[in-house]
Formats: sequence, C-alpha cells, structure tokens
Amino acid sequence: MVKTEATLVAPSLDPGLLRPDFPALDQKIHGHPLVYLDNAATTQKPTAVLRALDRYYRRDCSNVHRGVHTLSQRSTASYESARGIVQRFLGSSSDREIVFVRGATEGINLVARSFLGPRLEPGDEVLVTAMEHHANIVPWQLVCKAAGARLRVLPMDDRGELRLEELGKVLTERTRLLAAVHVSNALGTVNPVEELVAAARQRGVPVLLDGAQAVPHKAVNVEALGCDFYVFSGHKAFGPTGIGVLWGRREHLETMEPYQGGGDMIVTVGFEGSTFREPPARFEAGTPNIAGAIGLGAALEYLEELGLPQIEAYEAELLSYATQRIGSLPGIRLIGTARRKAGVLSFVVEGVHPHDVGTILDQRGVAVRVGHHCAQPVMAHFGVPATVRASFAFYNTRFEVDALEQGLREVKEIFGP
Ligand code: PMP
Repeated sequence: MVKTEATLVAPSLDPGLLRPDFPALDQKIHGHPLVYLDNAATTQKPTAVLRALDRYYRRDCSNVHRGVHTLSQRSTASYESARGIVQRFLGSSSDREIVFVRGATEGINLVARSFLGPRLEPGDEVLVTAMEHHANIVPWQLVCKAAGARLRVLPMDDRGELRLEELGKVLTERTRLLAAVHVSNALGTVNPVEELVAAARQRGVPVLLDGAQAVPHKAVNVEALGCDFYVFSGHKAFGPTGIGVLWGRREHLETMEPYQGGGDMIVTVGFEGSTFREPPARFEAGTPNIAGAIGLGAALEYLEELGLPQIEAYEAELLSYATQRIGSLPGIRLIGTARRKAGVLSFVVEGVHPHDVGTILDQRGVAVRVGHHCAQPVMAHFGVPATVRASFAFYNTRFEVDALEQGLREVKEIFGP
C-alpha cells in the first residue's frame, strides 16, 4: 500500500465509542436517525464542553479580572487557563499571543483594522487566494478602499488547487499582507500554506492564515507554520458559539493600536486621554465571553485527548470512502477535487437545484448545507450558483455516508434521469 500522509498513523479512532459523547447526534429527524453532515458550518458539542459551561454558570459565574471575591477569582483562573490551553494547542510560545475574539471573522477584522489599516498607503496591495471565505475578503477590501490600496488574487485551477506558479506575479513589492485560507470551507482543499508563508517571508510580507476549517481536522502548530497571524472559531472546533481565537506574533501585537475601546483594556483613563494595557488585554475590551472561552478550552482538551493525528487519519479514510461512493453516482459533479483535502465533499446534482437536494435529504434525516458557503468567488470559478456540501467530523461514519448516498439516489428518482 502506498503510504500517504494519513496512513502513516493507524486510524485507531472508533466513532462508535465517541458518539455517546455528543448528545445532539442521538435524535430522529422526520423519523430518521440524524445524519449530521454540516460540520463545516458548525460542529456538535461533547458533554465535556456542556459540563464546563454548566459548571461555570452554576458554580463560578462572575466577571473576570475585576473582583477580589472567590467567584471572580475562580472565573478569572478558568478564563486564563483556557488561554493557556489554546496556547498549547496552537504551539504558541506565549499565552500573551492568544487574543479571545468572537470568531474567525472578528479575528480577521481585528488584524485588518489594527495591524494593516494604519500601514497601508495608496497603491499598496493585499494578496488573498481565489478560494477565500468572504470573511477573508471583505475586511481587506474595507481597509484597502479607505487607503486607496487594492486586493490581488492568487488564482486556482479547476481541481481547486492554488496555482503556485502564479505567485511571482501577484506577490509584489507592493504587497503588505498575504491572507490565505488553510483549509477551504467550500472545496475542502488543504492549501500548501508552508510554501505560501516561505514565499511571503522571503519578501518580508506578513501572513495571516484562516484556520477556521483546519483546526477541527488536523494538528496546527503556528511556530512550525511560520505565519504571523492565525485565526479560528470555537464553534467549528466542537466549542461554543461566540468565541474564537486570534493568535498573533507578540512583536506584531505589541505595535498594534486597540481594536475596540472600553473596560479592561486600559491602564489609565482621563478625559484628556487614556493609556492601554499590553496584549492580549489591549484587544479584549469589555466583559469577554467567559463561558465561551472556558467551553473552548474544554473542546480543545477533548480534541487533544482523541489525538489530532488520529482524527486526521480517520477522516481521510472517511472522505475517501465518501468521494468514491458519491462521486461515482450518475449525474453528480464533484466541486473541488484537490489532491490534499480535508472534511468537505461539495457537489452538484445534474438538473436539480441544490436547495431541492438539501430539502429532500433533510426529509431523510441527512443534514447538509446548500448554497454558496460564503465563497461566491469559488462558485463563480466553477460556474455554479451553489453546491451541496457534506462536511465531516470524526464522529461521522461510513453508515452515514451510505445514508447520504441512498438519499441522493432518491433525489435522482424523484427528479428523473
Ligand atoms: N473562514 C472560513 C474558512 C470559514 O469556513 C468560516 C465559517 N464558515 C469563517 C472563516 C468565518 O467563521 P465565523 O463565522 O465563525 O467567524
């Protein structure tokens, strides 16, 4: 057998043993067992996360960083310990590099406003890739517009792989930042981010990586990646909604202006002016999402316990099974056939609108996402308005892929040949 990246680690993960950890998976939808294949939109939460939230609200509920009383000390300790878990999880050298934000979107906006905006001059350029989520396009457009700078795009081919040979043309002496998605939410492509970072670094261009779809599927080490900023969302990594992470190199964070003003981010405040705390506090104005951070810490510990290499190996096998089963159905066109993929199978069914496919599948208990997946430029590239997207997590099984396949056969029956 050819050894691939995934097969180097024995797939020792047994979803049958893990599924009871996820209460939401155990329910019927329209009389059928739920087959949850919308993990790229958000993931289900293990009881470890639910318990951490419950414990905070039942026992420790209090504001952080302000109180001398016991509850406040407890919640501060749990909140800051969650920061330490994120630091370890991302392989960062300091917890001062971990900023809690609402999600990947807010992390990118923070870097756009506080890091890039003040550095942009008319004629400067920001480089993104052709497969970005809107969250990694629009914030850059906003700051580019304000500064008279422009967005450039590294193209992709028809498999959904970046055309690295074009990098020399679009990475120029005017590039002030490269922002790239680690794993595409619409296509599943795992991008060669190490190569992108190396090319950008050679030119002294800082790099932000959008890890929203990478963190749930593979081990990420920001130091090994060599990037400057890395963002992800808690809710896509089995944690709560409303919490996410911006990791930024300390030397960058220290030079950045606050993103929002308010309590907790200041040293002194007077009507004539205010002074600000060191990062990360400088970027966490107001009462943070304390429960969210604690829940995220519990989610990342859960992932560490399962083992990211084991998760990656199991999912690679599941995705290859799904690709073969669904890809061989007549009238199915796969959108995104990159050689390195994670978690996502996007496709269109000939002659059937994706929304009809999604509705029929839901009637059979199969939850998939249909639409443009906040990646309209990707849809434009492939000449489709929308796709059906099945997205996997380590708790999904081959039986669930079979249920998807059966549902698609029924779609074809309803709509005819
Ligand atoms: N980037 C990617 C690749 C995503 O998949 C998503 C969510 N679909 C985001 C960014 C934005 O994440 P959030 O909405 O949680 O901020």
